[in-house]
Amino acid sequence: MRADTPVQYLKGVGPKTAEKFARLGVATVEDLLGLYPRRYVDYSDPAPVAAAPFDADTVVKAAVYSKRGAVRLPGGRTMVQVLAGDDSAALTLTWFNTHFAADSLRVGEEYFFEGRVRGTLTRREMANPTVRTPAQVEKTPLAAVYPQTEGLGSGQIARCVARALEEAQPLEEFLPPDFLTRFKLPGRWQAVRDIHRPASMAAAQAARRRLVFDELFTLQLGLGLLRSRGAAKASAVMKPADLAPFWASLPFAPTGAQRRAAGEICGDMTKTAPMNRLLQGDVGSGKTLVAAAAVYTAYKNGWQSALMAPTEILAAQHADTLDRLLGPFGVRVALLTGGMKAAARRTALAAIAAGEADLVVGTHAVIGEGVQFKALGLAVVDEQHRFGVRQRGLLAGKAAQPHVLVMSATPIPRTLALLVYGDLDISVLDELPPGRKAVKTYAVGGEKRRAMYGFLEKQIAAGRQVYIVCPLVEESDAENAGELAAVTTYYTEVAKALLPGRRVGLMHGRLKAKEKAAVMEDFKAGRLDALVSTTVIEVGVDVPNATVMVIENAERYGLSALHQLRGRVGRGAAESFCILVSDHGSEAVRDRLRFLCSTQDGFAIAKYDLEHRGPGDFFGDRQHGLPTLQLASLTTDTRTLAAAHASAAELLEADPALTAPEHRALAGQVQRLFGRTTFN
Ligand code: ADP
Ligand code: MG
Repeated sequence: MRADTPVQYLKGVGPKTAEKFARLGVATVEDLLGLYPRRYVDYSDPAPVAAAPFDADTVVKAAVYSKRGAVRLPGGRTMVQVLAGDDSAALTLTWFNTHFAADSLRVGEEYFFEGRVRGTLTRREMANPTVRTPAQVEKTPLAAVYPQTEGLGSGQIARCVARALEEAQPLEEFLPPDFLTRFKLPGRWQAVRDIHRPASMAAAQAARRRLVFDELFTLQLGLGLLRSRGAAKASAVMKPADLAPFWASLPFAPTGAQRRAAGEICGDMTKTAPMNRLLQGDVGSGKTLVAAAAVYTAYKNGWQSALMAPTEILAAQHADTLDRLLGPFGVRVALLTGGMKAAARRTALAAIAAGEADLVVGTHAVIGEGVQFKALGLAVVDEQHRFGVRQRGLLAGKAAQPHVLVMSATPIPRTLALLVYGDLDISVLDELPPGRKAVKTYAVGGEKRRAMYGFLEKQIAAGRQVYIVCPLVEESDAENAGELAAVTTYYTEVAKALLPGRRVGLMHGRLKAKEKAAVMEDFKAGRLDALVSTTVIEVGVDVPNATVMVIENAERYGLSALHQLRGRVGRGAAESFCILVSDHGSEAVRDRLRFLCSTQDGFAIAKYDLEHRGPGDFFGDRQHGLPTLQLASLTTDTRTLAAAHASAAELLEADPALTAPEHRALAGQVQRLFGRTTFN
């Protein structure tokens, strides 16, 4: 059977199962073999029954003494019991609602049972254990455990994978032949078999190393292809512009860090190589102003600029701010968002194409189909961690390679940034505008909610505004619907009820663009006292009169996200507060929230997150915009990452577009990893 055969042609995989696999992105036999186990259960060293710890998963080897017939329990469940044991103690095995496992057991034979031992010192039992025969254990002593999702259990996945391993032709090797010896990697088919059914832990580890290499190598090749696509084209070479009139026009003096970063950026734009710079600065450090200085320089040189923001709310706000800052110098700002009316969009597009818009601000729409710039010289991407590789690639393809400035509040370790984003320069805003006060941060339990609303009421009475954030992850639709209900319920039953007579607004991702803009406008203009919102307000929103940020279910966010949210307040002269509400009792969660209460330093916070939660927060699947990696970790597989990076660069040097016939299979793998991204 070929590797690209759809999974439903495997014996034992019906249309229902195939549909569940499809939801996991598994269409073919090759995809199925790419569902890797999460861990292994080691059957090679069973515990004596008497020594099996209570309430932990254990493997025992026991002989079957006797079997009892099925019993019907009250409530309609059935129960089958088998008495077994070894030299040390007896063990009662119980299965509920299934008799197949018990039926297959023969009295007098020995089997391996895996499960949780419960009971008393004298009576031990195991409910619904997994059974394996000594012959099975001999052949594969380590049993793979798969992540259970989409209604597929680990056992079911294991059975389908076993079928695929038997029926599929060996998967094609795609690494250049010398790689296997150079990096001491097993062949591909060997690795795929060993990751699913390793003969030993060492074999499993070798297999993992090979497959991690595959992922990181194809990732680096794909990123390299994306980068080189633009680099061949010429860039907009500019002359230095005198920034003094721009600085002088501001109502405040720029910080030293802002001046320095603007200098570095504008310096890059005068070079023949396109700029590729990351501007890193904590929440509130004034990145927008630095971007404005860059746009000013491009404008003075006769080039258009584009600025992309991750949300429509933020795009609208940026258009506003930049119009105020740059309008007086003649810069014409156009807003382009997905939710625009067709006629307004046509007008904007025409202006962009004719060069009558000097700065285009928008969401992904800026890089959408049909947007033609007359002379795009600078592209600014705000809050870069929300943008994917795909979008950055598209943007780079928009013009004869514009200068690219990426702005982020989330510090990325430099080594990682280099590996993931290539030859990236970094400017840091390490200074906040003067007069910023720390946002007083408190962590409270849900029982304090009423008292907290009393505090909100006082702040509102003093003329301030408050944000209340409820969780709604913009994930799958099903999830979205449930959480949409949650935020709406919270809005009516908690916020409106506890703030009677106050003007409370509701904001979430499901609102139409126009509705979102209207709510935000109302809040900005002070026509709303409180805003109940999902995390759509997480990034960038700037309303200086807002002084309190309440975050419900604070345990659901990483510290960096909480810090971003907290950054929405403390933007004006008044004392500001952030209240983290959580009923989550775990020590780790409380430690995390306490840490946030103790510091305002975004870099320290990101470091804490990285150490305590792993890289999920800023290199998590959803945020970094890279293709999803099955096995590899960008923070722990760093040695493999470095090797993959170097060898990918070397290979692209020899075959820049990856079109050589001997790289056909490799190019296919890159395409698989990157999905629909096109590289030409
Ligand atoms: P961020 O880096 O989080 O994007 P913003 O660019 O939104 O920060 O700036 C935050 C706030 O600080 C804005 O209200 C902005 O007008 C103000 N600001 C920026 N630079 C200065 C400065 N040098 N002095 C005083 N206020 C500043
Ligand atoms: Mg910002």
